[in-house]
This record gives sequence, structure tokens and C-alpha cells, in this order.
Amino acid sequence: MVRHFHALGTRAITVSGGGEPTLHPGFDSFIDLCGELDVHVGLITNGLQWSDKPRKIPANGKLIWARMSIVDSESGTYDVERLRRFSENLSDVAVGCYATITKNANVDFIERLADMAEALSNVTHFKLGENSQEAAPEKMAEIKRRVLPGRAKVIVQSQSEAGKETNRCLVSLLRPVVAADGYVYPCCDLNLKDAGYVDPVMFRMGHWRDFGPDTKAFNGSICQRCIWSHYNEALDSLMKPLEHERFL
Ligand code: SF4
Repeated sequence: MVRHFHALGTRAITVSGGGEPTLHPGFDSFIDLCGELDVHVGLITNGLQWSDKPRKIPANGKLIWARMSIVDSESGTYDVERLRRFSENLSDVAVGCYATITKNANVDFIERLADMAEALSNVTHFKLGENSQEAAPEKMAEIKRRVLPGRAKVIVQSQSEAGKETNRCLVSLLRPVVAADGYVYPCCDLNLKDAGYVDPVMFRMGHWRDFGPDTKAFNGSICQRCIWSHYNEALDSLMKPLEHERFL
């Protein structure tokens, strides 16, 4: 699959979970193969493989960034030092951190983590996203008031910022998602069953083996919301012929 997409021009692959990707027995050889093909890899992980047990990254690989998902932002018992160990064990990698904000999120804990992210030199950002299944506007407002000011690495993403879907979703061609079922889906925000979509099959763009130069942009008019609408608008503008492109 990596070779197929590399032949189509793929330059970078993000590996994300739903399970923990670093536990897959083929993970290291996947990173190695990407290195051989000069494909850069980004990784979304719970971080345990590098915070609780220092695992080696394949030397020939091209792991460029790794984002650690905080699996518990509510109890306040999550070990914030885990982010330090993770960033130290991946000292040559750009490290990010992500926490889902629910209505029970512990803001004191989030502040401690944000301070740690600010202090660690290879941590590039700490992203706080609202739970896609259950909005928490009051908690998001508190986060914006208490955590955001004065911290350059903190990014806050509210569900209310979702925009309009489009019938010509160029995101689907720029960075399609290959799911564990072997089918290609148009974007990473279709958490299909959880989001209440009745039939995930209608979001398939085909099997990965059939994905190629003739694949058409996904018709996103069936999507219920789109957090990538600005991305799609920008791509749409770039696709239009420019009359005076030398002056761009
Ligand atoms: S949600 Fe947006 S980016 Fe995702 S498939 Fe639909 S239109 Fe495309």
C-alpha cells in the first residue's frame, strides 16, 4: 500500500489510531520502508511506547512529528511528566500534544500540561479540541480564558468553528484516509459510526488498490459538518487558473 501511494506521488503519511499504531507488529518495518522511499511520517499515539518504555525509532525511518494524545483529561491523575519523557525520548522529532475537552475536563490539569508544553523545546504545540460527540461550550470558554492567553503553543479548536461541507471536496484527493478495512475515505473527521452516520459505505472512495489518477474528488454534500471547509476553500482557489500569476 505504501509503494502504491508513493508511486502516485505521496510524500508524507500520517499514522493514526482508533487503536494504538505503535503496537502493530509491522510498525517498525513500515517506518523503515517510508525511510527507504523518502516518505515522511507523522504519528498520532497515546505515547506509552516512548514515555513509559523508551522504544527505539528505526534508524532509517523518517518519523518527522509525533503527537501524543492525552487519554484522560478529566480525573486530574494523568501523569503530566509523561509528556516530558515522551519529548526526551523523541528528541529529534517535532512533538505535539492533544487533549479532548469534555464538559468534565479538569482545567487545572490542562494548565499544568500547557506549561510543560511551553517549557519543552521540541514540543511544537498543545492542541485542545472539543469532543466531537458532545460539545462542551462552557468548558471551551473557560479554556480560552484561562489557558490560551500568554501561551504561544496552545491551539484551541471548537466544534462551533465547523464550516460548510462542499460537493467538491479537494481534501479527499490531497490527503485521503486509508482505513483498516482497506477502503479509502475522504477525510479524517468522519468518525463514522460515532458521528451518527447511518451507512459508512457511502463515504468510501473505493479500495486503496483502485485509488489513482482517475479518482474524482469526493462529493461532500452528504457530510453533516466540515472542520476542513477553509482548507477546501483554499485548495479550490489554488486550482483556479490565475490571470496574472507572476504577481501572486
Ligand atoms: S467533512 Fe469536509 S473534508 Fe471531510 S469529506 Fe466532508 S467535505 Fe470533505
